[in-house]
Amino acid sequence: MILPIVAYGDPVLKKVGQDIDADYPKLNELLDNMFETMYNAFGVGLAAPQIGLPIRLFIIDTTPFSEDEDLSEDEQKELNGFKKVFINAKITSEEGDEWAFNEGCLSIPDVREDVFRKPEITIEYLDENFEKHVETFDGLIARVIQHEYDHIDGILFTEKLSTLKKRLIKGRLDNISKGKIRVDYKMRFPKQKKRR
Ligand SMILES: [Zn+2]
Repeated sequence: MILPIVAYGDPVLKKVGQDIDADYPKLNELLDNMFETMYNAFGVGLAAPQIGLPIRLFIIDTTPFSEDEDLSEDEQKELNGFKKVFINAKITSEEGDEWAFNEGCLSIPDVREDVFRKPEITIEYLDENFEKHVETFDGLIARVIQHEYDHIDGILFTEKLSTLKKRLIKGRLDNISKGKIRVDYKMRFPKQKKRR
């Protein structure tokens, strides 16, 4: 089932997510719905707050990035089929010199900006079977994880921009909150006036 994606301005996107445990109700169904919702919107990641749930859960499938011809064959291979569920994740280290990547977000349609982040991360997380993993990622995979991880901490990429950039996009962000935007997937807008 495709779920509506919560738009910029909804308070749920600002909440720090709660850990969940193995008896979280209907987790498999939730994961299926999240993947379906993400693929329908052509996203590479989706975090639970984006469908209205303030819990520490996000999913990733970087396959669409693997078609980028600017990447090396090794990188393309790594990105192709990199599909994972991250539960109760904790980034334990971020290393290296920050690099810029043009990020977007399904909750903030049509806004894309360069965001600086460190290139290598180590993350502890549980998979969909609640098995624990500790892994190190770099490049675009690390980038997607960092973006989604921010969501479960209540942080949006627009908060990482310069004061000037923030001022420049403010009007567009306000319009997104009000639903004054054309978007090809189902969304829920916090400040949309109800039609009578
Ligand atoms: Zn996002």
